[in-house]
Amino acid sequence: MIDITKYNNENIFAKILRGEIPCDKILDNKDVLVFKDINPQAPLHILIIPKKKYCSLYDFSKNADPLTIASIFRAIDQVINSLGIKNGFRLICNTGEDGCQEVPHLHFHILAGKKLGKIISD
Ligand code: AMP
Repeated sequence: MIDITKYNNENIFAKILRGEIPCDKILDNKDVLVFKDINPQAPLHILIIPKKKYCSLYDFSKNADPLTIASIFRAIDQVINSLGIKNGFRLICNTGEDGCQEVPHLHFHILAGKKLGKIISD
């Protein structure tokens, strides 16, 4: 079980942000990094992360300033436009244990490129 109560600098996305491990970058600005998921679950599977240290959506929603919160959604818009995603997509933010969050640095998934089916499969 991951700990999302205290930021862990050794999580994999922190290492990507520090340049210690590579990623397939799509967008990089002062607030946000966007890159391809290493284990894609759809033809397009992209991760959006804030550069500041937030463990989860709980942490982000409570503690991030409004400009940082907006920067995530602006980045999503940019990515959707630059990749020409016109037929829809799914935005996911797995949070905590029941949400099956694996990496304790806030991230949003964008899934696209095919009809994605139901949100939860049994
Ligand atoms: P979550 O279950 O929401 O925490 O999702 C974590 C996601 O990070 C998974 O979809 C993984 O495939 C992805 N992931 C893990 N390590 C890497 C990496 N080095 N580069 C890109 N994506 C990664």
